[in-house]
Amino acid sequence: MQESKDIDKLFCDKCDDFVEYNIESIKESRNILNQEEIEINAKVAVCKNCKEKLFHEKLDKENQKRAFDKFREKKNILSVKEIKDIRKKYKLTQKEISRLLGWGEITYHRYEKGSLPDQTHNNQLRLIKEPSNVKILLENNSDNLSNKTIKKLHKRLEEMIANKNKVEVTLPEELYKQIKMKAEKDKMNISEYLLFLITKENAADKAEKEINKLKKDIQTSILRYKTSPAAVWNQKSISEEKVKYKIKNK
Ligand SMILES: [Zn+2]
Repeated sequence: MQESKDIDKLFCDKCDDFVEYNIESIKESRNILNQEEIEINAKVAVCKNCKEKLFHEKLDKENQKRAFDKFREKKNILSVKEIKDIRKKYKLTQKEISRLLGWGEITYHRYEKGSLPDQTHNNQLRLIKEPSNVKILLENNSDNLSNKTIKKLHKRLEEMIANKNKVEVTLPEELYKQIKMKAEKDKMNISEYLLFLITKENAADKAEKEINKLKKDIQTSILRYKTSPAAVWNQKSISEEKVKYKIKNK
């Protein structure tokens, strides 16, 4: 009888003992909410002696998350991150956004904790990505909100509407440097040069490979920004510093 469980050992039923294990990648199918079989690339612990699959709590949680993420993607359900990003975009607290939407306070909180929103709530969240829809909600649901929140949200909406014609591009530092260098060479400022690269008709005369590559990179950055601003921010890493740059939309 083993008295205590070694921290890097797991129990193997077949070996009837705590064993060392390897971590392997396998394709695994998981049923989500009795609705759908989702296939994922799972990481599993395997007994070093007999190759039996072992239960590893942390890996299991990660695999479950992978399956849920894939399920959300497939069903067009906003991810936890997207949901958080919407709230943060308006600088609202969880309570405030719940009240704005006319939901129970716990309902919204649960979605940030990972619960799957039902279709109606998912659609409502999608709709409030657009500031003009929030404006309408604010007019209709102002009874649920404190004066302080109403004032704060009004201010934020004004800011957002004023910035509507601006695109915020976050570029990897390396790309930023390249663009800066090329802009200086052509005696243009960076914002003009970015616009030049992004606007197709302008770039058409200079169909060099390099320029096209830069253009594609920038367009990808913008696309990423438009889909989810935080997607760009959160890719920050030590090796890839981002430079924030503002240009005006044509
Ligand atoms: Zn074993």
